[in-house]
Amino acid sequence: MSSDYQFRGQRVSPLAEAQIQNSAIILCEVLGFKPSRSKNKKFDVCFERLAEYGITLDPVEDRDWSSATHLSIIGHYDPQTLTIRVPNSKYVEACKGDRTALAILFHELGHLVLGHQPSMHFSVMPPTQAEDAEWQADMFAEYALAHLNYEMRQLTFDFY
Ligand SMILES: [Zn+2]
Repeated sequence: MSSDYQFRGQRVSPLAEAQIQNSAIILCEVLGFKPSRSKNKKFDVCFERLAEYGITLDPVEDRDWSSATHLSIIGHYDPQTLTIRVPNSKYVEACKGDRTALAILFHELGHLVLGHQPSMHFSVMPPTQAEDAEWQADMFAEYALAHLNYEMRQLTFDFY
């Protein structure tokens, strides 16, 4: 437990890495994400399955995205409507297997699967890394990518 952890997101219930990994693997299996050696991957089929679960994946035209967000964020999840929004170019790259673009999509899916909700959280204890929604979503994305045989990284994305 480090008390000097730099909190980046909402404070949520703590999760261990093994729980996050488990959720990421289940998501991959449910949506049919499998490791593929193909240069041009076809993950669009997997993302389209989200609709069967009432989840909306809404790619936004890049021009509209940059005017709406001033590029301060590169992905968004709305827990009220179960809607994930990303710039269209990122969606297209993720479907083809681009690691960075997939990390953005899996990060937003992590918020959804891990049940992150805006919530009041009173505690006298300082927040820990395991309670940071952004850390949890990053770890979720890393474990999903690892499941697809992408190299794991300790990247942190600050703006989504
Ligand atoms: Zn996030």
